Amino acid sequence: MSEKKSKGQELQKELAYKKQNYYEAAGKEERKAIFEYAEGYKAFLDAAKTEREACDYAVEAAKKCGFSEYRFGDPLKAGDKKYFVNRGKSVVVFRVGSKNLEEDGMRLIASHIDAPRIDIKQNPLYEDSGMAFLKTHYYGGIKKYQWTAIPLALHGVVVLKDGTKVTVRVGESPKDPVFYINDLLPHLGGEQMSGHANKLIDGEQLNVLVGGLPYDDKDVSEKIKLSVLSVLHKQYGICEEDFLSAELSAVPAYGARDVGFDRALIGAYGHDDRVCAYPALTALLWNETEHTVLAMLVDKEEIGSEGTTGIQCKVYEDLMEEISLAMGANFRKVRMASKCLSSDVTAAYDPNFANVYERNNSAILSCGTAMCKFTGARGKSGSNDANAEFVGEVRKMFKEGGVVWQTAELGKVDVGGGGTVAKFVAQLNIDTVDLGVPVISMHAPWEVVSKADVYSNYKAFLAFMK
Ligand code: MN
Ligand code: MN
Repeated sequence: MSEKKSKGQELQKELAYKKQNYYEAAGKEERKAIFEYAEGYKAFLDAAKTEREACDYAVEAAKKCGFSEYRFGDPLKAGDKKYFVNRGKSVVVFRVGSKNLEEDGMRLIASHIDAPRIDIKQNPLYEDSGMAFLKTHYYGGIKKYQWTAIPLALHGVVVLKDGTKVTVRVGESPKDPVFYINDLLPHLGGEQMSGHANKLIDGEQLNVLVGGLPYDDKDVSEKIKLSVLSVLHKQYGICEEDFLSAELSAVPAYGARDVGFDRALIGAYGHDDRVCAYPALTALLWNETEHTVLAMLVDKEEIGSEGTTGIQCKVYEDLMEEISLAMGANFRKVRMASKCLSSDVTAAYDPNFANVYERNNSAILSCGTAMCKFTGARGKSGSNDANAEFVGEVRKMFKEGGVVWQTAELGKVDVGGGGTVAKFVAQLNIDTVDLGVPVISMHAPWEVVSKADVYSNYKAFLAFMK
C-alpha cells in the first residue's frame, strides 16, 4: 500500500539532505556483511594492541595474501604487491597499479596504529609498603583517572645489554597475571573528589602495581623488588638495567566485545585508530586495483606524528619517491596527481554530553564513516581544510561505490578541537581529506564504535581505490 506523496513531500525528497542510518539503509545481505566483517576486526584488535603488534599483524596478513617485502632500490612493475616496514613500528602495504603514475598519481590511505596508553619509565621499578610498582609516563591525550582500578596488560620490547630484543606480552591470556593502577577509596576520597577531574590523579601517581611477594632471604633489603626482578630474569633474561633500553606499555587487559543486546556496536581498547587501519589494510589486501595504492599504517600520531615512525618523517616521502623512480615517473608529477584519505576517527555525537556537540554537523553513530573537511581548533587552526573540488571528487567516488557516509566536525566551534596526519600529507602537494569512523568515549581505555560504520569505512576505501 503506497500512499501518494504530496507535492511538498516530493520536493523535499528531491532537495533536502538527510543522513541515513546505515543499518536501516542496508539490505539483509549487507547487514550480514557488516556483522561478518566485524568479527575479523575484533580479532585484529585483540592481536594488535600496540603499534609494533599492529605492524607485525599487517606484515603477516600481507604475506598470506602474496605480498613480499620491499626495500629501497628494488625494481617494481605493475601488479606488484609489496610491504615496507619502518623500524617494526609502522608499515606501508602497497599495490603497484597499471595506470600511469604521472597522470593518475597514487591513492594513499593514511591511518595510525599507535593509541593512548601508559608507558613505563626507563628506571621504573621500586617497592613501597608491601607492593612493587613501575613508574610510568603516559602517552597521548588521556583522562588519567580512567586508567586507575582496571586490569592492565604489559606489552613491548626490552633490548638487553648484548643487543638481544625480548618481546613482552603479559596479561592477555586468562592464565596470565594482570597489572593495576591504584585509586583512592571513596571513604578517604573527599578531598580528591572535590578537585578538578584532571587533578584526581597525578601523572606521578600512575604507578603500575607489579608485585607483592617478598624474596625469601632475611639478609636482603627490598625483598619484593628482588622477587619481581627474579621472575623477570627467569622468564625474559631481564636485569633491572635492561629497563634503560626498554619500550614497555601498560594497556587495558580486556579484549574487544560486542556491545548491546543486538550486538550492533563494538567495545575495545584502541579503536582510535585501528578502526581505520584495519579497513585500510583489508581493502588493499583483498582487492586488486588499477591505481597504485598505499595503505600507510603509521606511528606516533597521538603525540604529534613526530620521530622516525611518525608521518612527519621523510621515510614515507622517500618511499613514494622510490616507487616513482622504479616506475620511471617524475616524483613531483606523481605527488601533484596523488590523492589521500587521512583516515582517522572522529567523535560520535553523544546525547549524554549534547552540550559540546553541534548536532547537525556531528557524526551520528551508524550513519557511516565520517568525512571531516577540516579539523583543528578555534579558527580551524592546525587544519588541512580540504578543497571543495577534492571533497566533491571523493563524494562522487562514494556515490558510485554505494557508500553510506556522512560529514562531521569534532564538536562545537569554541569547545575544543584536534588534529590528524592530514596536514602533513597535504604539505607534499597531495590533495587530502579526513575520513574515519565516529567513536564514543574516544581515548578512554575502552571505546565504542558501530559495526555499520566500520564496514562503511571499508567500503569507502574500496570506492577510493577503485
Ligand atoms: Mn586518531
Ligand atoms: Mn587519537
